[in-house]
Amino acid sequence: MFHKYYRPKHLAEALAVLSEYEGRARVMAGGTDLIVQLNKGDISFEAAVDITNIKELRYIIEEDGIKIGALTTHTDLAQSSLLRQKAPSLADAAGEVGSLQIRNVGTVGGNIVNAQPAADAAIPLMALDAVATIVSASGARQVALEMLYHPGGGTILDPCSEILTEITFRPPSDMGGGSAFGRLSKRKALSLPVFNAAVVLLPAADDKNIMDARIVMGPVARIPFRAREAENLLRGNAFNEDLFHDAADTASREAKPRDSLFRGSSAYRKKLAQVIVYRSLIKAWKDMGC
Ligand SMILES: Cc1cc2nc3c(=O)[nH]c(=O)nc-3n(C[C@H](O)[C@H](O)[C@H](O)COP(=O)(O)OP(=O)(O)OC[C@H]3O[C@@H](n4cnc5c(N)ncnc54)[C@H](O)[C@@H]3O)c2cc1C
Repeated sequence: MFHKYYRPKHLAEALAVLSEYEGRARVMAGGTDLIVQLNKGDISFEAAVDITNIKELRYIIEEDGIKIGALTTHTDLAQSSLLRQKAPSLADAAGEVGSLQIRNVGTVGGNIVNAQPAADAAIPLMALDAVATIVSASGARQVALEMLYHPGGGTILDPCSEILTEITFRPPSDMGGGSAFGRLSKRKALSLPVFNAAVVLLPAADDKNIMDARIVMGPVARIPFRAREAENLLRGNAFNEDLFHDAADTASREAKPRDSLFRGSSAYRKKLAQVIVYRSLIKAWKDMGC
């Protein structure tokens, strides 16, 4: 456990406390991951810096793209009419997280920084090509979500000195595109997904061909995984169901899920990848109004 608890009202105060403790204090948001890890003895730190009172970090706005404050909860995301309209993959994914209690306190920032390979909000955000803003006592930097993750697991962000403040992306609907999210979990409540995937499709100027495609899957690697070969197969070709089948087969081949007593065999989850990626491609196509 920790010995000191801070609940600053402003970002600058939170950063000052982190600086003062020189790596011995840690950012805490909803605590839904952190407290579990503390109780298990997986991590320890001297002081918790609870940032949930920093009201300036909780918002979803449209301003030169969509901007989401790191303290925005899964409930906020799921209930956002802006996201439902412009990035339904993210709203749908957030609505699937854990239980109502977890969705009410768990934040999008915590979901990203905790770096679970199947984190339900991080998967669609990576497909949406989102960029994270990270602030520390020495300044701010912007990092594409994809670059935030270490290939071997975890993120490059240090929650003992840095705070993720904002996530931004250009909604696919602004480019005539669509997005979709698909997921299977073992039971309805409180379980991390057995498999999840998010898809973004962007049309070329002629509306018939695919200009760009992004497919992100979890948990099939140590971090959210981009199915690049499947994306390449889609790019430059005409939208059609046969192509989506081929892309889903390719994504399934790229996926490397482990055998898991809890989540099922690797073979079973590769089959799931095929089915869920295909369905998500169809759904994203429909989201384009097709
Ligand atoms: C019962 C249960 C069910 C769950 N079900 C799901 C599920 O279905 N899908 C899913 O994706 N997740 C699930 N989770 C995991 C968790 O709820 C989410 O990942 C949640 O979004 C974490 O957010 P938080 O605000 O609680 O993070 P916290 O627990 O507060 O923090 C998580 C990590 O991120 C760091 N951190 C948090 N915010 C910031 C920030 N702004 N800047 C820098 N570092 C930060 C913390 O130091 C910590 O390392 C579940 C958890 C539980 C306990």
